[in-house]
Amino acid sequence: MAAVTERAEAGLRAIVGERIRTDRVERRMYSADIGEMPRLVKPFVPAGLAGAVVRPLTEDEVIGIVRLASAEGLKLVPRGASTSGYGGVLPAEGAVVVDLSGMHKILDVDSAARTARVQPGLIWEEFERKLAPLGLALRLYPSSTPSSSVAGWLAQGGAGFGSYEYGMFKDNVASARVVLPTGEVREFSGDDLANLVADAEGITGIITEVTVMLRDLEPETHRLFAFGSATSLHAALTAVSAAGLPLWSITFLNPESTRLKKTLPHRHGHPYEETHAHYEPSLPKAFLAVIAYPSSREAAIGAALTEIAARNGGSELPPEAAAHEWEQRFSPMRLKRVGPSIIPTEVVVPLSSLAAVLREIDAKIGQPFVLEGMVGKGDRVVLLGFIPHDSRTFAFNAAFALSLTVIGIAKRYEGAAYSTGLYFRREAASVLGEDRVRRLEYFKRATDPTGLMNPNKVLGRSFIDVVMGFAATFEPLIRPIANAMKPPAVVTLKERNGIPEDVAYYAYACAQCGYCVHTCEEYSGRGWMSHSPRGKYLYLREVMEGREKFDQKMVDTFLVCTTCEVCNTRCQLQLPVEHSWMTMRGKLIQDEGRMTFPPFEMMAASLRGENNIWAGKREKRADWVPEDIAPKILEKAPVAYFAGCTASYVNTDVAEATVRLLDKAGIEFTTLGTDESCCGIPMKVSGRWDVFEEIYLHNTTEARKRGVKTIVTSCPACGLVWKELYAQLAAERGDEYEFEVKHYSEIAAEALADGRLEFDHEVNKTLTFHDSCHMGRAQGNYEPPRDLLKAIPGVKVVEMEHNREEGLCCGSVLTLIGDTPVAPILGKMRLDEAVDAGADAMIALCPCCQVQLRDAADKNDIDLPVDDLARVLMEGLGLHIESSSANSLLQWGYFEKFIYLMKPEAMADLMAALLPEMMAAMPAGMLPMMKAARAIPGGLALMSKMMPAMMPMLLPGIMPKVMPAMLREVPRRVGPLPEDMEALMPDLLPKTVDALMPNMLPLLIPHITPKMIAYIRTEL
Ligand SMILES: Cc1cc2nc3c(=O)[nH]c(=O)nc-3n(C[C@H](O)[C@H](O)[C@H](O)COP(=O)(O)OP(=O)(O)OC[C@H]3O[C@@H](n4cnc5c(N)ncnc54)[C@H](O)[C@@H]3O)c2cc1C
Ligand code: SF4
Ligand code: SF4
Repeated sequence: MAAVTERAEAGLRAIVGERIRTDRVERRMYSADIGEMPRLVKPFVPAGLAGAVVRPLTEDEVIGIVRLASAEGLKLVPRGASTSGYGGVLPAEGAVVVDLSGMHKILDVDSAARTARVQPGLIWEEFERKLAPLGLALRLYPSSTPSSSVAGWLAQGGAGFGSYEYGMFKDNVASARVVLPTGEVREFSGDDLANLVADAEGITGIITEVTVMLRDLEPETHRLFAFGSATSLHAALTAVSAAGLPLWSITFLNPESTRLKKTLPHRHGHPYEETHAHYEPSLPKAFLAVIAYPSSREAAIGAALTEIAARNGGSELPPEAAAHEWEQRFSPMRLKRVGPSIIPTEVVVPLSSLAAVLREIDAKIGQPFVLEGMVGKGDRVVLLGFIPHDSRTFAFNAAFALSLTVIGIAKRYEGAAYSTGLYFRREAASVLGEDRVRRLEYFKRATDPTGLMNPNKVLGRSFIDVVMGFAATFEPLIRPIANAMKPPAVVTLKERNGIPEDVAYYAYACAQCGYCVHTCEEYSGRGWMSHSPRGKYLYLREVMEGREKFDQKMVDTFLVCTTCEVCNTRCQLQLPVEHSWMTMRGKLIQDEGRMTFPPFEMMAASLRGENNIWAGKREKRADWVPEDIAPKILEKAPVAYFAGCTASYVNTDVAEATVRLLDKAGIEFTTLGTDESCCGIPMKVSGRWDVFEEIYLHNTTEARKRGVKTIVTSCPACGLVWKELYAQLAAERGDEYEFEVKHYSEIAAEALADGRLEFDHEVNKTLTFHDSCHMGRAQGNYEPPRDLLKAIPGVKVVEMEHNREEGLCCGSVLTLIGDTPVAPILGKMRLDEAVDAGADAMIALCPCCQVQLRDAADKNDIDLPVDDLARVLMEGLGLHIESSSANSLLQWGYFEKFIYLMKPEAMADLMAALLPEMMAAMPAGMLPMMKAARAIPGGLALMSKMMPAMMPMLLPGIMPKVMPAMLREVPRRVGPLPEDMEALMPDLLPKTVDALMPNMLPLLIPHITPKMIAYIRTEL
C-alpha cells in the first residue's frame, strides 16, 4: 500500500515540519502493537499499513492534523507507546498514525490539590520519577509503567498497581483535553470523561492533556504470601476484603508462573554478570500474593494480614523474597523468553468467583498457563494469562483459540473480556455496558460521521468479528484440538533470510513491550521507531517473513547504535539486545560485504599501516610517555599499561596521568610502546571483523613477548576488548587466552584502600562523574572512580539524574561517525544533567567520551569543562598535568571534516571537481564515443542511463590515474591537515577509496551522473 498522497504529505509537512515519515519501513514500524495474531486469522484483521506517521509536539499541531485529515479524507490513529495488544493502535490501511510520544511534558503540578497536568505521551516511569522530589506519587500505575503513556492508559482503560485502593485509572483523572474529529478542543471531566474518553481507544478524539490525581509519597511495605491452592488464595483475599484492610495493591501469580521463571536465563551478555551475586529467592510452587501498602498503615494492617493469611493456609515468605518479587513487578512478560511467542488472554472476574474461575481454567487449559492477577476496587479481579508457544508453527493457529476458552469461562462467572479494541468489538456491551456503547455511538454519529478517528475500533462490525464469533461459538469443539496443539518440545533456532539463529530467536521472543524505546540513545536522538531496539527486532521479523529486505539505510540504522547497552538493562526478557546488533554488524558488513560507515574504511587503512585510527605515525605512538617515567617502564613485566589510540595521540593527559598514578601506587609495569596497536573496537563495531582479528593477533603477540599477564587500561573500550572480545575470539579460534584485565581506577582504588595512595592536595570543586557505557554497564565498574574522587580533599561529588547502570551515553562513537549532527544532541542531554546537578566540571575516564562530550559542549555552547579522572586524581596528589581538552577539539575537527567529505554527495562533488582528470584517464575510444553521444539527439540521455553499468567498469582503471589530483583536492576541501596526516594521505586515500568504491558507487552515481553529462555537454 502506498503512502498518503503527495498533497496530503505536503499538508502534514506544513504542520509538523520534518516530523513526518512516509517511507515504507517506518510506516510498517508504526503498524504494529504488542499482539501477535495467528497467521490464519491475520488476513481477516481490518488493519493494514499506515499511510504516514507524524509526531506532533503541540496541541495546535494536533488540531492542524485533524483539520487537514478532515479536508483530505484521511483517517487518523492516535498512538501513545503502543503497548496495548487489542489492536487499538493498528491503523486502517493508509491511515495516518499520530504518534504522541513527543508530547511528554509535565505541564504543572498542584501540590496542594495533589494533581498534575501532563501531556498525553508522558511515560509513567518518567512521571513517577519527577514526582518523587515533590513528595508526591502516582495513585496507581500499570505494570507497563516503564513504557506506556498516560493518555494511552486513559484511552485504553485498565487497572494497575494501586487499583485495590484507587480503582481504575479513569477514576483518578480529574479532566482531559481532547481534540475532537471536528478539530474543536473540549475539556472532559466526570461522567462525560468516563463514558466518552476513557476506554474509547481514541475513537472520539485525540487526548492532548490529562489532569491526573496524585497521592503523597510514602515509604511502602511489600509482603509476599504463598498459598497452596486457588481455594486458600481465594479465601484469604475474600477475608482481606471483608476485614476492610486499607491495602494499596494486591497482585498474585499462579504456580506455573514460578515454575517457568526458574527456567529463565538469569542475566544477559557479560561475564561480570555471571559472577555478580544476584539474590534469587527460592520460591515454593504455589500461588504467590504480593501485597503493598504505605508503611504508615502498619498498625492497621500488619498483624491482621498475618493472621488472615495464616488462617487461610497461607505462609509468609522472607522480606527479601517480597522485595525481589516487587522489583519484578514490571516484568509480566518475561516468560515470553521461553516461548518465543505467547498466546495472551485477559479477563475481569468477580472476586467471589476467583477460585471457581481458576479451577475451571486449570481443568480446561491443557497447556502450560502462566497467570498473573490484580485485585481491583470493588472486588473485581483482572486475570492476565499467557501460554508460551511458538508463532512460527502451525500449531499456534489452533492453540490461540484457548484465549477464547478463558474469556468464555470468565463470562460464565459474570466476568468479561478486559478490553475491546479491534478484536473484541463483539464484546463491547459486556466490557463497557450497553448504555456506554449507545452513548459512544451517538457521540460518534454527531462528531465523526465519516469515521475519521481510529476506524474499526470499539464499535461496529466486520469480518473479523464473524471469525471471532464463530471461534467463540465452536470453542468447546475446538478446545481439544487447541490443547493438543503444543509448541515444539525443543524450540529450534534456524538462520532465516540471513538473520543468524540466535538473533532470529530474540527477534521473535521480543515482547514489543517498548521498555527499551525511549531510553535508547539511538531512538531519543531521532524519535523514530526503526531506530529503537523494539523497532529493529520488528524489522528483523519482517525480513525473516520476507516482507522487507535490507537496504543501505537499514544497514546504517543497525550500525549507528551507540553500543550503550541501556537496552540490555531495560529488557524485561533480559534479552542480550545490544549483542544482537553486534552480531548483525558482522553479518551485514563482514559476511555480506555491505558498506560500513565510510570513515571506518579510512581508519582501517590507518590501522593496517600505522596501528592507530587517528592517522598518526606509528613511531610516535609512545611520544606521550613523560621523560621521568620512561626509565621506570620495564621491558618485560607481568603488568602492562595499554594506552589505546585516543590516549596515545589525542588526549595524552589520560595516558600520562595513568602511568603516574600506577607509579605512585607502587605498581611496576611495562607498555607495548610503539608496538601497541589500536585495541580494534572501531573495527569490531563497524563490522570489519577481518581487521579486528588481525589486531587481536598483533596485540596478544606483543603482550606475550613482554611476559604480560595483566592488562591495565584507561580506555573502557580497550578494557572490554581485552576482557571479552579477544577472549571470545580466542575461544572461537581455539587459542589459549591467559590475560587478566583491570581498569586503572580499580587498581588505584585498591591502593587507596590499603594506604598506598593518599590524596593530600585540595581540589575545591563540585564534580560529577560520567559513567562510560563500556566501563559501567559492560564491566560493572561504578564505585572505584567515585571512591577515588571522594577521597580528594575539597572535592564534592554530585550525581546526575541518570547515573551508574542508568547513566546516559555520551552519544559517541558510531553516532558521531555515522550520523554526526545527532551526536551533539545526545551529548547535550548528558551535559545538561551535569549542569542541573550543579557540577563545576564533568569527570570522565574514557578518552572517547571526552572527545565527544567536549565537542558537544562546544557545539551547544555549554560552558562546562569535561575533565579526565586520572588528571584530577593527580591534582589530588599535587601534580598538575596539562589538560588535552583543546587538542581533543582540534583533532576531532580534522576528523569531522573527513566524515563530511566521505558522504556520497560530498564524494560526488569531489569527483565532479576532478572531471577533467577523469576524462583524461578514460580508456581509448571513450571520449570520441561521448562526443558522438553529444552530437546525436537523445544521445546524452541514453548515456546517462548507461552510467550505472559503465561506471563500475571504468572506475578501477581511472581512479589510480586520478589519485594525485584527488590528493591535491582533498586538503582544499577539508583545510590544512596535521603534518602526519598529510604525510600519510598518499597511502591512506587510495586504500580508502578502493575499499569504499564497490559499495559506494551506486550511491554516488545519481549525484555524479548529471555533473558528468553537463561536463560532456559543455566542456568536452
Ligand atoms: C508489559 C506490559 C504490562 C501491561 N500491564 C498493564 C496493566 O497493568 N494494566 C493495564 O491496564 N494494561 C497493561 N498493559 C497494556 C498497556 O500497557 C496499557 O493498555 C497502556 O495503558 C497502553 O498505553 P500506551 O501508551 O501504550 O497506549 P497505546 O497502546 O499506544 O494506545 C492504546 C489505545 O489508546 C489510544 N490512544 C493512545 N494515545 C491516545 C491519545 N493521546 N488520545 C486518544 N487515544 C489514544 C490508541 O489509539 C489505542 O487505541 C500492559 C502491557 C504490557 C506490554
Ligand atoms: S545499545 Fe544503546 S543505542 Fe544501541 S540500541 Fe541499545 S539502547 Fe539503543
Ligand atoms: S527488546 Fe526487550 S524491552 Fe525491548 S521491546 Fe523487546 S522485549 Fe521489550
